[in-house]
Amino acid sequence: MSAIQSAIVIAIDGPSASGKSTVSRLVAEALNFYHVDTGSMYRAFTWKVLKEATDARCSAAVLDLMRRVQYECDFVAGDDGPTRLRNRLDGEDPGADLRSPRVEESVSVVAAIPQVREWLVEKQRQLARLGDLVVEGRDIGTVVFPDTPYKFYLDADPDVRARRRAADQAVAGGRAEIGEVGQAIAERDRMDSTRSVAPLKIAEDAVRLDTSTQDARHVADVVLKHIRSRHLMRK
Ligand code: C5P
Repeated sequence: MSAIQSAIVIAIDGPSASGKSTVSRLVAEALNFYHVDTGSMYRAFTWKVLKEATDARCSAAVLDLMRRVQYECDFVAGDDGPTRLRNRLDGEDPGADLRSPRVEESVSVVAAIPQVREWLVEKQRQLARLGDLVVEGRDIGTVVFPDTPYKFYLDADPDVRARRRAADQAVAGGRAEIGEVGQAIAERDRMDSTRSVAPLKIAEDAVRLDTSTQDARHVADVVLKHIRSRHLMRK
């Protein structure tokens, strides 16, 4: 644990469409840290579960696949941002399929399986051997890197989050009815907040930021100010 903890880790947690991805990218870019989107890891494995026609609701089948699959994650230069995480399962990068509606529908089911979480949390901790990180997710400040002094929890009004997600889907060429998008987000938040292991919750020592009326650049500046006010100390 000590070698891993010598890296600086900025933990950014929050529910879906709270703005954490854009803010995390901006913070990672400003600090020249690696950007780790842990949601992409749960999504990538869920993509593989679906690709292999495994029933996401059957934990035994999902765990059997988990033990067989070759999962590699490494960092690659982002097109227009910081160095980002790449996931490959049996050599394949799911790419844009990570955001497909099928993956969205099943990811919280797969992410609730305790052994899947243990497996991916271990990989997330190992990434800190490679350098300083900005890590976004649901349990980063509470479970994955509980010792980091840099914890942020982003949230926004549910209507704002639904509108943001619908806009993202429209840009990606998908169907974007705000009411439906809002319901899907609410259902995923419900599952993520009520699961027995590592539910989405606010770390006691996290700085809470409401992004409802702030743009991502402004929120990233606030995060950076907090970090710098603590002198960005290596542990
Ligand atoms: O952040 P994103 O929306 O991509 O996350 C997709 C899903 O992955 C979440 O809804 C949650 O079920 C799961 N997740 C998690 N723990 C994390 C990150 C994501 O359970 N640290």
